[in-house]
Formats: sequence, C-alpha cells, structure tokens
Amino acid sequence: MSNQSLQSASAVPQFEIIEVDQKRVACDGGGGALGHPRVWLHLGEENQIACTYCSRLYVMRGHTPVETTE
Ligand SMILES: [Zn+2]
Repeated sequence: MSNQSLQSASAVPQFEIIEVDQKRVACDGGGGALGHPRVWLHLGEENQIACTYCSRLYVMRGHTPVETTE
C-alpha cells in the first residue's frame, strides 16, 4: 500500500455545478457582465442539464453528475 498519492485528480471542471431541487430551472448566467438572456432549462431523465449559454451544469440535488466523455 502506498501513501504517496500526493497528486489529486486535476480534472477540475471549467463550469460551475449548481444543485437544484426542481426539474425546471432558469439560468441567466449569474447576471452582470457574464450574464446572458434568461433561459429555462429542463432537467431530463438524467437529472442534469448544461446551460448552452454559460455551460453551467445544473443537477438535481443528491444526484451525482455524469461526466460526459468526448
Ligand atoms: Zn446559463
């Protein structure tokens, strides 16, 4: 057993993950200069949806986001 695993996974997502507790969420990018027109997003059966404007990932509370592999 090795205890020298000092390097943690560096897979830091470039987008925010926001927990929500309802299927329908509105996103406006947080407002301000980084904002965008408010859009309504709907969490599908996967319980997660990424905003097409700001790439924020909305996930149902308690749901583990599924990493998309490209
Ligand atoms: Zn957005």
